[in-house]
Amino acid sequence: AKARGRQRVEVHDPRTDDGAADRLRLLGELRRGIPDGQLRLHHQPQVRVHDGRISGVEALVRWQHPVRGLLPPSEFIDLAEQSGLVRELGAWVLDAAVEQAARWARDPECATVEVAVNLSTRQLTDPGLVDAVTGALARHRLAAHLLVLEVTETALAVDPDAAAATLATLKDLGVGVSVDDFGTGYASLTYLQRFPVDELKIDRSFVTGLGVNASDTAIVQACVQLARAVGVRTVAEGVETEEQRRLLAEMGCDVVQGYLFSRPVEAAAFQEWARAR
Ligand code: C2E
Ligand code: CA
Ligand code: CA
Ligand code: CA
Repeated sequence: AKARGRQRVEVHDPRTDDGAADRLRLLGELRRGIPDGQLRLHHQPQVRVHDGRISGVEALVRWQHPVRGLLPPSEFIDLAEQSGLVRELGAWVLDAAVEQAARWARDPECATVEVAVNLSTRQLTDPGLVDAVTGALARHRLAAHLLVLEVTETALAVDPDAAAATLATLKDLGVGVSVDDFGTGYASLTYLQRFPVDELKIDRSFVTGLGVNASDTAIVQACVQLARAVGVRTVAEGVETEEQRRLLAEMGCDVVQGYLFSRPVEAAAFQEWARAR
């Protein structure tokens, strides 16, 4: 997991370096915990730069472990991905996020809130993905354009031809596609040409260095310019300071997301936050 990108290195938590037996136990607990209803979604607002309005939220999974408390994804996502359990986890997240998005779509104060869902590598390469997405949209009667799927460069690289076909189908449905952790993988430039994507998410590791580190600043600037040139929206994640927001606005970034606005919170807390704005 360490080699997968700058973000992974930063969020790596030594507590996940348990022995194999501990990991196996945790995996068993997660396998039972999913049908038991122990997963939760938190939502982090995404704010449009030009008018400060909410464009959407990113849905981020948590595990309410009966003993260990509320666990962040760094404690269990890699385990789920390695074991294949991420299929069940991903299916739960997709359904729960679409259900929540449909609830907001019926609420006049939140009606245009798009919900972004993170897809694991296994989900993107699963031939059943399109059916799972159309199934969730139909079940909860959500308009496709209110759903955004975040995929990583790494996931796209596993089988680029199959991924391109999947993304084309999703685009035809009206679902948005975002390239997550942009800049941390390889071949970013050719990917934009090859895959029908609507959005680039500039990784937090670059946003953190904005205005402080010359090469991070140059990378963010280049990503924004590149995206604009090909008509793709840019979202900057991990925006923590007003100075970062200001620089991103100057560069022409479209949407910002980060602790400067809100941490990921439960649905009710997000609604309160949205009303108070
Ligand atoms: P990500 O997709 O890059 O999500 C952004 C992470 O950065 C989130 O961590 C979010 O809480 C955190 N973050 C947001 N704003 C700030 C900020 O201003 N400062 C700092 N320091 N951090 C910020 P989280 O929720 O712990 O998720 C970590 C990773 O776990 C995600 O990275 C994503 O790769 C994965 N993940 C989360 N939910 C899901 C899911 O439902 N399915 C899958 N497959 N992966 C998920
Ligand atoms: Ca994401
Ligand atoms: Ca991201
Ligand atoms: Ca990231």
